[in-house]
Amino acid sequence: MASILAPDHLGPTVCVGEILVEIIATTDGDGFLEAQPLVGPFPSGAPAIFISQCGRLGGSAAMVGAVGDDDFGRVNIDRLKRDGVDVSTIAVDPDYPTGSAFVRYRKDGSRDFVYNIARSAAARFGWSQGVNDLFHRSGHLHVMGSALSVPSARDVIDRAVEIVKARGGTLSIDPNIRKELQLDQDTERRFAQLVAAADLLLPSGEELERAAGVPGEAEAIGRLFGIGVKEIVLKRGADGATYFGRDGERIDAPAFLVEEVDPTGAGDCFGGAYLTCRRLGMSPQEALIYGSAAGARNVTIRGPMEGAGTRQELDAFIASTERRV
Ligand code: ATP
Ligand code: MG
Repeated sequence: MASILAPDHLGPTVCVGEILVEIIATTDGDGFLEAQPLVGPFPSGAPAIFISQCGRLGGSAAMVGAVGDDDFGRVNIDRLKRDGVDVSTIAVDPDYPTGSAFVRYRKDGSRDFVYNIARSAAARFGWSQGVNDLFHRSGHLHVMGSALSVPSARDVIDRAVEIVKARGGTLSIDPNIRKELQLDQDTERRFAQLVAAADLLLPSGEELERAAGVPGEAEAIGRLFGIGVKEIVLKRGADGATYFGRDGERIDAPAFLVEEVDPTGAGDCFGGAYLTCRRLGMSPQEALIYGSAAGARNVTIRGPMEGAGTRQELDAFIASTERRV
């Protein structure tokens, strides 16, 4: 069966959206109302984590976004460059600081955040000659739902979808939208259009039903294939992941048994690895193993993209780690 995703040699996978640093409280508790120990800055932002994992696995990869002219920006650019990502379309904003997220885990595992994204450099990028040239040589666009709340990212994504598809490239979407988050009508409409244009959908948990607009796992899968989606991989955290093919094929991938240190970024690493493996010609079955390994390995290390693995690291992880039965 020919892969439903454009091969790696058609051109890089491109991710568009927020680039941030994350600063993490080292103690559990409620928020940031008193001075406390923190660790960071760690390079972050869901689209950046995704593309970092693509690059580390040896996929052709590029990032569109912006950072400030500060150390937080340099931390991100240096990391992505080291991972093999083309960073030439990351703008450096002279006036605004790099976006940031402070996070502290509560005892029950939920999180408190202090964000600086909407009014930071993270939201200040747009179409440019360089971005235009990149999309005219790219093979795949990956969209994170979280980027749709950034107006500049929305515009870039709209233009990019047409260019990439016109040259035979493909589109994947990770809805990545927390269920409490209410999108305005226009964003909701754009999101639905993107879902209908997606070749690969990578939802986690309830995002599947939200993307489909109908309740029930089987109903949601049926509806999404009905509107044109070609492949769906549902992420279930420590319960693993499931591949659904248009022909009715289903593959359940058990999760690796690991001790979770920091769950942030698991879904992004899973998606980046799965997509890259598929674009490099692997079967869904093989790609699921690398995706699951990338997600699981990433939760064992503190920092949102610190645990993204190279091919060698993931092979070693797979060989030495048990899977849940
Ligand atoms: P994120 O919080 O980054 O948005 P997500 O909700 O999109 O994550 P998850 O389902 O949490 O995605 O994680 C993606 C994949 O990573 C899972 O399907 C699983 O294979 C692996 N994974 C995540 N958490 C664990 C864990 N605690 N143990 C083992 N594997 C895990
Ligand atoms: Mg997610």
